[in-house]
Amino acid sequence: MNVDLHCHSTASDGALAPALVVARAHEQGVRMLALTDHDTLDGLAEARNAAERLDMRLISGIELSCTWGGATIHVLGYGFDESAPALLSSIAQLRDGRWLRAEEISRRLALKGMPGALEGARAIQQALGDSGNAPARPHFADFLVRAGYVKDRAEAFRKWLGSGKLGDVKQHWPTLEQAVGTLRTAGAWVSLAHPWQYDFTRGKRRKLIGDYIAAGGHAIEVVNGLQPAEQVGGLAILAREFGLLASAGSDFHAPGSWSELGVYRPLPEDLPPLWCRFDHAQPHAAV
Ligand code: MN
Ligand code: MN
Ligand code: MN
Repeated sequence: MNVDLHCHSTASDGALAPALVVARAHEQGVRMLALTDHDTLDGLAEARNAAERLDMRLISGIELSCTWGGATIHVLGYGFDESAPALLSSIAQLRDGRWLRAEEISRRLALKGMPGALEGARAIQQALGDSGNAPARPHFADFLVRAGYVKDRAEAFRKWLGSGKLGDVKQHWPTLEQAVGTLRTAGAWVSLAHPWQYDFTRGKRRKLIGDYIAAGGHAIEVVNGLQPAEQVGGLAILAREFGLLASAGSDFHAPGSWSELGVYRPLPEDLPPLWCRFDHAQPHAAV
């Protein structure tokens, strides 16, 4: 695919520095790329420089965490004003929250006889690329492996870091309404990330999409990497029914993992792609 609107660099939890993500995307044939690191704009300047050298189009992007109905939801923003005060202050709050969360994970692991986790996870994170963000759970997982507490990442998540385990520290995310509002204030085009990944019933997913539209959302991510074709079909039905634009992307994090830059299932042809609107002014928020 020559468009990829969802990927991560070392500015959040990806394994490659922003310039390397851009170069790899270019090798994969991508000509329009949005770097969508979690809750940060830190990778965008480096990515933009790299994209200019390759004559590629880089769209400013971000994947914001928020809550809705007791679950953590991800919302993607594109083409926004990177100096918008509302966006910058929201990101600063999220960054502080992530540091508090990392400290809490480390404290809990120390109480279980695994000291030094924050420093260890931070060293692993910094070896991948400089970041002002707190280390995330994958970095803690790698620390636990290297320190010999678990045999691999999967065991680290199963025993200590996964959902409901000691390392699953809840953070005070903004609400879905606030996150979409912040992005809209910054002039972003907004897409609801991977709506099938949340463990919701069919009715709850529809309610989520209704609330998301009421908050000002423009699109849903109909295709996320190589997610099963029937999920793409289910999301396409929702996009049609709710009259939403469609976005698509690989959600690339690291080479050799489940996703690759520019690789995802095709978007059903009748759906209006979000990226065709990037050059146009936004409509008013749907109500
Ligand atoms: Mn991630
Ligand atoms: Mn996500
Ligand atoms: Mn993502």
